[in-house]
Amino acid sequence: MIQLTLAWFVFIYLTVFLAGILILWIGYEMLQKRLYFQASQRFIHCRICGASLLTSSSNELLSCHSCGSLNEPHHQGGL
Ligand SMILES: [Zn+2]
Repeated sequence: MIQLTLAWFVFIYLTVFLAGILILWIGYEMLQKRLYFQASQRFIHCRICGASLLTSSSNELLSCHSCGSLNEPHHQGGL
């Protein structure tokens, strides 16, 4: 039988417990980033007023519900 002192038992218990928490934390952060990235792909901001617009799969111009300006659904960069 393995002789295990109380100090080693506490050390192993805490190591396994903290490693489990760390793994859950990293997994949760990766899931959050993935969901944020997917959500950011579906929304764009109006170039005039900054309102959020929901993009569609087609490439037609989106009309802003606040100011009425037309926005490209998939634009990259600034000027
Ligand atoms: Zn607008």
